[in-house]
Amino acid sequence: MVQINVSQQLKAPIGSIRNYRVSEVVDIADGNSLVQGEVGLMRTDRSILAKGTLHTETELTCSRCLSLFSCPLTLNIEEEYFPTTDVVTDASLPLPDEPGCFTIDENNILDLTEAIRQYALLATPIKPLCHEDCAGLCPICGGNLNQVPCNCPPKPADARWSELSKLVLADSEAPVNEQKGMK
Ligand SMILES: [Zn+2]
Ligand SMILES: [Zn+2]
Repeated sequence: MVQINVSQQLKAPIGSIRNYRVSEVVDIADGNSLVQGEVGLMRTDRSILAKGTLHTETELTCSRCLSLFSCPLTLNIEEEYFPTTDVVTDASLPLPDEPGCFTIDENNILDLTEAIRQYALLATPIKPLCHEDCAGLCPICGGNLNQVPCNCPPKPADARWSELSKLVLADSEAPVNEQKGMK
């Protein structure tokens, strides 16, 4: 579960830890992903510290061959959750001055969803690759070089081809000069 009632834990002595198995579908970025792993919740003097390793997968587009692939993500979560109400007296508690810190709601529910989302976003590669050695798309025919070998000539960026293109350029300039000379 990713929404955990921690009312018992808030009453427990500082330093006590409870472990929870997580196996839940969470809406990460643009789709639902199964998140699995284990999270330990430790009572601290001011909060509950959630610490654990979760695994999930997210659908990404390869930055080279543009194919969709499932990218595994490891989330090493370590976040403090601050109670908003006193578990015994129900009185409102002041929050620490940390902007964007995670809180435990008035029903003593600690919700890991937002942390999972944020950690998944951080773990997502900026330029995802379906394989480390993805061959990408052919710049000429657009074919996926991982799937079908094409018979296109090598890239024009190849040194030999850039020499050739200089020659072609020189040839096409030559007649223009001649015409000028004739005038
Ligand atoms: Zn690829
Ligand atoms: Zn090609």
